[in-house]
Amino acid sequence: MLAVQIKAKEEILPLVSSKRIFIFECLGCHDVYYPVEEAQKLIDSIDQEIVGRATLDYLCHADYDREYIKAYAREIERAEVILVFSCGVGAQVVSSLLDDRKVYTCCDTLYLAGFQGLTAKEFDCDQCGECYLNYTGGLCPVALCSKNLLNGPCGGSQGGKCEVDPDMPCVWQEIFDRLAGLGQLETMDRLGPPKKWNVSPA
Ligand code: SF4
Ligand code: SF4
Repeated sequence: MLAVQIKAKEEILPLVSSKRIFIFECLGCHDVYYPVEEAQKLIDSIDQEIVGRATLDYLCHADYDREYIKAYAREIERAEVILVFSCGVGAQVVSSLLDDRKVYTCCDTLYLAGFQGLTAKEFDCDQCGECYLNYTGGLCPVALCSKNLLNGPCGGSQGGKCEVDPDMPCVWQEIFDRLAGLGQLETMDRLGPPKKWNVSPA
């Protein structure tokens, strides 16, 4: 049970410029709050070729996603960019299953107390209201970095583990590795504006 708002087209259009696109859209929490018309408006504003679109319930369920990825394998193979309309959990699951592809989320997940996605234990989302996944290779620094760092690692990681909790992987090491694999390491140079914590429960 999660609610999302659609990101501004000014954030999304530069990410998909001159690219073939595949869209995943999740309607699992449709009745809670999924702004169908705004999502369609954003899709309509995209001039690039959309090679396929899968609409399903519960994109946060990795097994469902694997089946859809199989069913749409040909279209996904043609796509240069995957756009995801879902909460942060769903977007992280798709990123993990298509980790050699550029996966971008078109939504910010809003705070709403309650049930958090079907694979929330592996792919947590703190519902921070301002999603960063498009700059972190689809890994969430808000939920998974012990210090909630948003512009890069703290420097304390040892052997890929977090200095605060050595049982945890350092998510910034994982972000670096994912971006390196995608040939997008320049994204690490981005210095984002201060986070709007007023839209986050934290
Ligand atoms: S950055 Fe993380 S906590 Fe914030 S909306 Fe995205 S997945 Fe959720
Ligand atoms: S070691 Fe990594 S995960 Fe841990 S606080 Fe530092 S940047 Fe965050």
